[in-house]
Amino acid sequence: MHDFRKSVLQSALWLRDISQDTFSWSAEKHRIFHTCRRAYLIRYYIAQGGWDASASPIARKAFTEKYLRTFPAWLEELFSESLSDALLQLRTVPKHRYADELIHTLKLRLSHRIFLAEAFLAEKRDLTDPKKLSFFDLYYRTRRFSGRRQIIAECKQFFRKFLSCLPASSLAERILRTDALAWRVPPAFLLTHCGAIPVYLRPRIHAFDQGEAVFLSFSLFPSESDLPHTGYSCGEPDAGALGDSLFASYASGRFRTERITCHAVMQCGPEFSEEELRPSPAPEKLIRESAARMLAHLPSSADSLEDFPPGRESARCSRCRFQGTCSYLDC
Ligand code: SF4
Repeated sequence: MHDFRKSVLQSALWLRDISQDTFSWSAEKHRIFHTCRRAYLIRYYIAQGGWDASASPIARKAFTEKYLRTFPAWLEELFSESLSDALLQLRTVPKHRYADELIHTLKLRLSHRIFLAEAFLAEKRDLTDPKKLSFFDLYYRTRRFSGRRQIIAECKQFFRKFLSCLPASSLAERILRTDALAWRVPPAFLLTHCGAIPVYLRPRIHAFDQGEAVFLSFSLFPSESDLPHTGYSCGEPDAGALGDSLFASYASGRFRTERITCHAVMQCGPEFSEEELRPSPAPEKLIRESAARMLAHLPSSADSLEDFPPGRESARCSRCRFQGTCSYLDC
């Protein structure tokens, strides 16, 4: 690397808060660390300071990339948030009307969120604020959609199909058989601990009813080509399974029960499927070892770049949201 680029990178690295005391662990951090060290460096040490307009261009680019969403991830987020809204709203509905109201309310909440997204996209707010609905598919996978309108059109088409399967699904049955007041809708993140290690987890919609903790998980893919083909390269449990295990650990401690069920729903193209899983709590040994390996790799200067080599697996790189920053660092 030329010295000039080294000094640019040095100015971009977010080194203010790096110490054992400020470290936290998450399933996503673990996933990125084990799939590509370069993406890990960009996500957790270069992008961190990029919110500041006076930060270096490379830090701001990494920050923009950090907020890029894939289309399937956005569909999952839309559905999960709309269902959370509907469950909260239905708490006041009498039991005999609950079944009729569930799908109706869910459709209304979903339509409202899609309407807002349509306005965001039309106004191109993502171009000035990366935190506003920024799509990987508009940034790097530009042939996926012909334009912003097609995103909304495909979203509506997807949910028409998905919602037609819901009334007869065991997800609807599961929701209806659970006490309406038992449902809890999640905040964006939960902080728990594994020994002294702070662990952030992404919560699921969950309930504790009749001695059982149940939580819901959704995987929504408009077509098979949207399925991620990028698992771990080193035999680790996949990120979704690890996330479910972490949530199972949280639920078992929070509700003091061993009866934990994950109701997993998947739509891939025309195929709708569901299953009930019994995730085991996350192995503490895995978290401790993973955290120790990350702590042994704290970047301290631009020379640390060699400790964070690019994975360069073409299937993964073509879908990597950090590919722009990565190619810059690779010069
Ligand atoms: S483009 Fe490839 S090598 Fe670069 S950060 Fe992404 S996954 Fe890693």
